[in-house]
Amino acid sequence: MKIAVIGAGASGLVAAIEAKRTNSRHNVMLFEKNQRVGKKILVTGNGKCNLSNINVTSESYYPSGDFTSFAIENYGVETTLGFFEKIGLYTYSDEEGRVYPLSNQASSVLDALRFECKRLGIETVCDYKVKSVEKNGKGFVINGSFFFDRVIVACGGKSNPVHGSDGSGFDILSFLGHTVNNPRPALVPLICYDFPKNLKGVRSQCNCILSENGEKRVECSGEVQFTDYGLSGIPIMNLSGFCDTESGGEYTVSLDLVPSLSGDEVSAFIIDRLENDENGLVENLLSGIVNKQLGLAVIKLLGINQNERNSSINKEYADRISGVLKSWTVKVKSTKGFDFSQVTAGGVSTDEFNPQTLESKLVSGLFACGEIFDVFAECGGYNLQWAWSSGMLAGKSAAEVTE
Ligand SMILES: Cc1cc2nc3c(=O)[nH]c(=O)nc-3n(C[C@H](O)[C@H](O)[C@H](O)COP(=O)(O)OP(=O)(O)OC[C@H]3O[C@@H](n4cnc5c(N)ncnc54)[C@H](O)[C@@H]3O)c2cc1C
Repeated sequence: MKIAVIGAGASGLVAAIEAKRTNSRHNVMLFEKNQRVGKKILVTGNGKCNLSNINVTSESYYPSGDFTSFAIENYGVETTLGFFEKIGLYTYSDEEGRVYPLSNQASSVLDALRFECKRLGIETVCDYKVKSVEKNGKGFVINGSFFFDRVIVACGGKSNPVHGSDGSGFDILSFLGHTVNNPRPALVPLICYDFPKNLKGVRSQCNCILSENGEKRVECSGEVQFTDYGLSGIPIMNLSGFCDTESGGEYTVSLDLVPSLSGDEVSAFIIDRLENDENGLVENLLSGIVNKQLGLAVIKLLGINQNERNSSINKEYADRISGVLKSWTVKVKSTKGFDFSQVTAGGVSTDEFNPQTLESKLVSGLFACGEIFDVFAECGGYNLQWAWSSGMLAGKSAAEVTE
């Protein structure tokens, strides 16, 4: 049997390996539009490749864990780490459960996968973009030239197109009758309206709440990075996939800039300063509890003159200042877009694929895996884990399917 895997990223490489291992007599061919395979793997985890997370469950995935549960339960972290160990790659996990290669180099992950493809005799065709996949009798014809019995589409989403994933997989699957649900950038910084440019470079631990049309959608904590256009950092990236600014919805992020103190404690701190340091300058009023630049931004937002003495502030203002420190709300204009996003939210409708095989319910012999699906997760190794789990499942199922 001839099996084509379209896209040699994380999920495609693993799918090809698993297909060949399942039946070594199958002819498995891997098509990649870039000049080399797995380009994106090299930039993951800041070059260290955070390849999994020991805390992963099917519930780690949005919009619902239902579709991912079979793949994650049967090809989860243990199976994945066993898979990598078998091809010569040892790993470790940090205190947050994030798994990295022992070498701390993403290139070792890619090398292990490349060498295994070679060892198994998987034919890899690089610098070759698949533009069309047409159903032809019981099989498929790729780019009008090559016939295959089974096709696994592993083209990724639209994020970070410089590393290959340009959305062409969506075109391939929609041509074959599949629905593509509103692809949008996720794990991406947010551009905000009227954002103080001078906060660029400030980093602060915050609790962040994303609201849509005034209703709370999701909450995240961690180090927020302030930029000249808006907000970045892991908690913001984690919120971004829920931020569909193109839909016309109004999105805000409320930042608790002093998450370790209650609102009353913040007010008490301010009153104490006003009472015990009357001659102190307002510009220093908040620097004992929050980054000075952030404190100044809050003071400015409330129209208070930072060059005055503390005695100029009425104590009744303490609660107002505390209110903004505990919930500074900024309006989101847009995300930074696909070029800056790590993953794609939305994608090919999971309703149209069998979660136990990843075979299309519409076209027999057609499989998919990885980010091309309407599945995404937070930062921390979960997205690559989905690529490995779904890749293993799709590869095995495609190789096993018989008439
Ligand atoms: C900067 C960055 C850092 C990241 N860090 C992490 C991390 O540390 N941990 C984590 O879990 N996730 C991380 N991710 C996300 C993770 O890389 C992806 O979720 C994962 O790579 C998706 O795998 P995939 O195989 O589905 O798609 P991709 O890795 O995007 O691979 C798709 C492949 O298909 C090829 N292709 C596309 N269309 C065609 C076509 N028509 N013909 C032929 N070939 C085609 C592409 O060139 C590409 O090689 C990061 C992403 C980025 C951008």
